[in-house]
Amino acid sequence: MNILADFRTQRPATLADAVSALAAEGAVPLAAGTDLLPNLRRGLGQPAALVDLTGVDGLGAISILADGSLRIGAAATLEAIAEHALVRANWPALSQAAEVVAGPTHRAAATLGGNLCQDTRCIFYNQSEWWRSANGYCLKYQGDTCHVIVKNDRCYATYHGDVAPALMVLGARVDIVGPAGRRGIAVEELFREDGAGHLSLERGELVAAVELPPASGWKTAYVKARIRDAVDFPLAGVAVALRREGDRIAGLKVAITGANSAPLLVPTDELVGGCWDAAAAGTLSQRVRRTSNVLKTTVTGVGYRRRALLALAPRTVDALWQGG
Ligand SMILES: Cc1cc2nc3c(=O)[nH]c(=O)nc-3n(C[C@H](O)[C@H](O)[C@H](O)COP(=O)(O)OP(=O)(O)OC[C@H]3O[C@@H](n4cnc5c(N)ncnc54)[C@H](O)[C@@H]3O)c2cc1C
Ligand code: SF4
Repeated sequence: MNILADFRTQRPATLADAVSALAAEGAVPLAAGTDLLPNLRRGLGQPAALVDLTGVDGLGAISILADGSLRIGAAATLEAIAEHALVRANWPALSQAAEVVAGPTHRAAATLGGNLCQDTRCIFYNQSEWWRSANGYCLKYQGDTCHVIVKNDRCYATYHGDVAPALMVLGARVDIVGPAGRRGIAVEELFREDGAGHLSLERGELVAAVELPPASGWKTAYVKARIRDAVDFPLAGVAVALRREGDRIAGLKVAITGANSAPLLVPTDELVGGCWDAAAAGTLSQRVRRTSNVLKTTVTGVGYRRRALLALAPRTVDALWQGG
């Protein structure tokens, strides 16, 4: 059986040409392909055309704007983001997140846009065609049953992107371009809690860039737990932005990945104004527990992933509180 039908490839040189190429039925954006191509080789998807965005003029630029904010084009590589001196100095959560995606050769090609828009993952989905067909496929693609949650109300595949939670705590906005023009949204609005439709992009739209406000006054960090430090997706990932004024928390933002079908902000308002102590750490762990929904979507046990997530969040706030 031919699991991958013929498709066209296009390599537009301008954003306008990319948008018009993506308006065609079945056209899909392609960046470095480190997420998309392994999936296609497994028969996951049948695009009519791949529109390669890496040739679009200026789409890989990283620039500091006049007001001190940072603009990063969607085709910027994770390596370029991780190594950018001003990003490291002013938006460390972002450089730390980019620096721990997969391995070095991977980051030399993989892009910001592809990282944000990467597919959700599940042990019943990221499998070969013969494996999936032998198991009756699943609700996300070609089948009608979810093997993780039997009520079949939606797909619960997990989002494992490292960069999105860092952008969330940094207050980033996404610049989206499509057939209806340009629009800007907060990065958290790019995602939905649905493993089979986790992006809010309309047909033909693409992520053009991400913009981050100046982060002065905030200490930020991203940490992840994974089995092999050299390559693996996050089993749990936590981004934190903290503003400390004396013994008081003046601002706190926490976002998680590797737990739900979307990266999510954890409610932390009740901690702002208080001090960071054991009770606050307990409250934060509770909020993380209530926000997360870790399910059997990876080979690593649910209990381990949940415990890692609950431990990483207070530990990261603690390190920033101590000035680390
Ligand atoms: C072995 C291995 C390990 C990995 N480890 C990690 C990890 O630790 N952390 C992690 O976060 N990811 C990991 N990944 C997933 C993936 O490789 C990375 O997320 C990478 O950043 C994807 O970028 P890309 O440019 O290759 O995207 P592509 O594969 O080209 O695209 C990914 C998806 O995004 C869409 N897309 C691309 N650009 C745009 C755009 N500008 N606008 C709209 N849609 C777009 C594509 O259509 C596709 O659906 C891993 C993958 C592999 C194979
Ligand atoms: S969560 Fe269910 S529907 Fe989604 S990929 Fe896994 S088995 Fe399929």
